[in-house]
Amino acid sequence: MQQLTLVLLASFWAFCTGSGDWCYQSQFTCDHPCNTPEKWGHVFKDCAGEQQSPINIVTRKALKDERLTPFLFNNYQQMFRALVRNNGHSVQVEVPHLSTVAGGGLSTTYKAVQFHLHWGNNGGPGSEHTIDGEQYPMELHIVHMKQRYTDLKTALSDPEGVAVLGFFYERSSSVNKKYDTIVKSLKNVIATNGNTTLLPTSLAQLIPPQQNLTSYYRYKGSLTTPGCTEAVIWTLFENPIPLNNEQLRAFSDLKFHNGKPMVGNFRPVQPLNGRQVFRSGGVVILSGPALLAATLAVALGLSQPN
Ligand SMILES: [Zn+2]
Repeated sequence: MQQLTLVLLASFWAFCTGSGDWCYQSQFTCDHPCNTPEKWGHVFKDCAGEQQSPINIVTRKALKDERLTPFLFNNYQQMFRALVRNNGHSVQVEVPHLSTVAGGGLSTTYKAVQFHLHWGNNGGPGSEHTIDGEQYPMELHIVHMKQRYTDLKTALSDPEGVAVLGFFYERSSSVNKKYDTIVKSLKNVIATNGNTTLLPTSLAQLIPPQQNLTSYYRYKGSLTTPGCTEAVIWTLFENPIPLNNEQLRAFSDLKFHNGKPMVGNFRPVQPLNGRQVFRSGGVVILSGPALLAATLAVALGLSQPN
């Protein structure tokens, strides 16, 4: 009897851990075994590296860096009609290589290539990065590569070839109209490999206004999906994007390849392994007399070391 149990257990184990494509924990079933995040490193060696993403950001350990100045966004207002696709792991939008970012402590100009999101179950915790252990309902990744490259594969062979701008979401009581085009497109990409064309949208409309993007965290890490290449300059903005519950929940209508709801498509946080996280120079919101004084100081050419 005991032997039979052991045999059954053994066969169950073998069946359930059988190799397959990579997946998130939420996608795993014994009928369709796949490699969950803790096994990615067995198949994709970079996933077992020392500089992996995402991470938990401990705010009191983040070092203020004056070089982390505001970003210069170029053509972020440009409207485009792009391909939206359920790639089996997320919803991804290929954007024309027109929008660029510079400044923000980046060594050169990077151009936007695609964006995609990571989310929880019906608006539950779902971001990849966490801040002091807090997981947000969703996280947007706008993937950029150095201007001189024409494809991501080449960019990933440069240790600083890719810059991802990460944005968190927060639940709000009112609908975010700027997300109408994205949210409406979801119903056309429920099934894996489903695709549709996005109604005219700009990157600027998906992120907070530029003046709210001066506070951010910076560290060196990797792609958060296999091959987990360590070629990413990460930026996580402090200011979240508001969406109402219905908008957040709409993402959970998507399906994985095996028909299970596409939820929990985030990788667990990875060890820091001695890496330093930096934070931007910390802006002081000035108004009234303080703003006037600062403006005068600038006009008079007075420097303000701080
Ligand atoms: Zn991502």
